[in-house]
Formats: sequence, C-alpha cells, structure tokens
Amino acid sequence: MIARVAQRMSGWVGWVFFLDLFDGLSLTLSYMFSKTVTERYPDDEKWMPFPRYRGHHFLKSNAEGKINCVACELCARICPCRCITVVPHEDENGERHPRVFDIDLGRCLFCGLCEDACPADAIALGRHYEFCEYDNKALMVGRDALMAMPGKAGRGGEVVPARLSTEADVTVPITVGGEGADWWRNIRRR
Ligand code: SF4
Ligand code: SF4
Repeated sequence: MIARVAQRMSGWVGWVFFLDLFDGLSLTLSYMFSKTVTERYPDDEKWMPFPRYRGHHFLKSNAEGKINCVACELCARICPCRCITVVPHEDENGERHPRVFDIDLGRCLFCGLCEDACPADAIALGRHYEFCEYDNKALMVGRDALMAMPGKAGRGGEVVPARLSTEADVTVPITVGGEGADWWRNIRRR
C-alpha cells in the first residue's frame, strides 16, 4: 500500500517537475560527450563478424587441394529452402565428388543446417557478407566460386581498417596489418 502511494506520488511529482524529460535529456547529453560508435564503412573501416557468423557459404578442400565434398547430397536434403543442387560424379579412382554444386543465395536463409548435416566437413558458412546483386541470377553460386570464398573469421567482433575498391565490385578489402577496435566496448549501457 505504502509502495503504491509512493509510486503514485513520484509519478505526480515527476509529472509536475518534468523529471522524465530531464532524465531523457541527461541520457542525450551523456551520448554527446561519449566516444562515437559510428563506423566509417565502406571508406575507412569494416566490421569483422564473429567466427560464429553465418555469411556466404564456402566449400573446403584438403591439403592437396581436392574438394572435401563426397556429393552425398545430405545438405541438399536438409535444406529447408531447397536451394542446394548437387550432381554427383565418380572419378577414375572411384572417388565421388560433385560435378555440380550450386547454391541459390537468393533463396537461402543462412540457417546453417547444411553445415551441421555435412558428414565430410565440406561446407560451412563463412565471414563474407558483401554479396548484394542487382540480378537474381548472379546469386546462383557454383562449385568453383564456393571453393574460392573466404572461410570463417579467425577473430571477430571488431572494426578493422579497410578501403573501398570500386574495381572489385562491392567488396571492401581489409587493410593489411591494421589494428582492430572493439566496437562493443564503446556502446554505453545504463
Ligand atoms: S544455410 Fe540453410 S537455407 Fe541456406 S543453403 Fe544451408 S541449409 Fe539451405
Ligand atoms: S557438402 Fe557435405 S553434405 Fe553436402 S553433398 Fe558435400 S559432403 Fe554431402
């Protein structure tokens, strides 16, 4: 009962003296004098995702450069979007590999089920996230392109120096040797 009266009184006093307004303004002012968290992307900086980030797929290969995939089609079966196409092929040594391995990124929802289901540690979702296209057809990615894709981030959760390269379409290469900044550290929490 007392607590309810005190709450009602504080609400009434706060309404008369604009306490909520001053509370909001104090937060705004504190942000004005805190370190900025604005990321200068894509000109100078770039976000490095965490290793657990699920970006563009990539296909792995062994030390001899041979693709790990054995074309079992489990990834295609488990995919909820039906966006993986695998056509198996058996070479002269009886080894099975995909002749065709296509992923339609326009339909993919980046759930990671294909990575979880793969028994050969052949497919994974990596760190690459700059693959916007104007044409849906360009989002159909084949085997060779998947093998050339960068893998998972070794480190992540930071902003690293980068530079925009218009010659390389929309990708923003990381500046070699640059030190990262812990972006999350600068986010103010109340
Ligand atoms: S991430 Fe999910 S939706 Fe995308 S290809 Fe893999 S299983 Fe299919
Ligand atoms: S990527 Fe893995 S699950 Fe998919 S076909 Fe190849 S071996 Fe099978």
